[in-house]
Amino acid sequence: MRVIDLLNKADKTLFSFELLPPLRGHNISSIYRTIDPLIEFHPSFINVTYHQEEVIYKKHETGLLEKKTIRKRPGTVAISAAIKYKYPTVEVVPHLICGGFTKEETEYALIDFHYLGIDNILALRGDAPKNQRTFTPEKNGHAYANTLVAQIANMNKGKYLDEDMLNTFNTNFCVGVAGYPEKHIESPNLAYDLHYLKAKIDAGAEYIITQMFFDNKKYFNFVEACRKEGIMVPIIPGLKSIATIKEINILPQVFNIDIPEDLVREVMKCTTNEEAFRTGIEWSIAQSKELIKYGVPVLHYFTVGVSDNIRQIVKAVF
Ligand code: FAD
Repeated sequence: MRVIDLLNKADKTLFSFELLPPLRGHNISSIYRTIDPLIEFHPSFINVTYHQEEVIYKKHETGLLEKKTIRKRPGTVAISAAIKYKYPTVEVVPHLICGGFTKEETEYALIDFHYLGIDNILALRGDAPKNQRTFTPEKNGHAYANTLVAQIANMNKGKYLDEDMLNTFNTNFCVGVAGYPEKHIESPNLAYDLHYLKAKIDAGAEYIITQMFFDNKKYFNFVEACRKEGIMVPIIPGLKSIATIKEINILPQVFNIDIPEDLVREVMKCTTNEEAFRTGIEWSIAQSKELIKYGVPVLHYFTVGVSDNIRQIVKAVF
């Protein structure tokens, strides 16, 4: 079922989560180990992230450097299909990014998803690869997520890149996009970011999933600002539970977010990562309960490969 239809028919806050494909060389069982403990809480959908290639330099004995392109976490399409058919009551939402794809390759990926019976996509631009400062689209690829959304919306109308293509069919994708309560790192301010968020909705996206935040006020203010901008679609809060002491320094750098003073103080009192893990769970439970009271459509958790904390949070909240 399309995510928007799930949201429209729900009479209470739903539960969903995001998974990372396993690292290259690992197998699908690590994915099942993350999903299995959460299945009894009836997740409505599971997102599967997509990771662009990275360029690495391998040093040879001669001192020469060899440039190699690798994908550390391949397999989003295959993993999405495996989840769909192993857990038939759960919808799967593969992420599709602009980075590394030409428009033709995007079309092929969408045709594959359609053949696999997958009706949901989270459309994203993707970040610049680790060793590059700025995002560079492929030649004849999408520079921003709004045109990727438009391409998917066109396929839903039976419009393909090659207008002369025969035997085309209308796809039925429900497209979600990313939103940033504390603004996207490249945006000069929130107003600018909201302008382009609206462009993604106008192009055909039907809901938003937010970047993680640890202070619910940031989410409440964001929803209000979106509504003022005329963005009326459901806004799903994305939540991450702090899992290690180091994360209070790493997450702000990677995701351009603030961590509230109270949470930082609690984590700084921890002497082990186990204590920080428990502190993260307690914070997330309180955050989730307040968001449910506010009436959010879904609580969406970023697992980052660990589900034990999410299990404890969801058990306390739902
Ligand atoms: P866009 O919406 O394209 O926005 C990027 C920046 O450009 C913003 O600053 C925006 O304001 C600006 N902008 C947008 N459109 C225009 C325009 N037309 N002209 C000028 N400026 C414009 N990354 C991955 O690689 N894989 C994943 O699986 C993944 N999953 C994610 C899931 C969630 C819920 C979130 C919140 C993020 C995820 N990301 C993922 C990270 C995301 O790809 C990055 O944050 C990326 O830098 C921006 O993606 P976007 O789709 O928001 O980009």
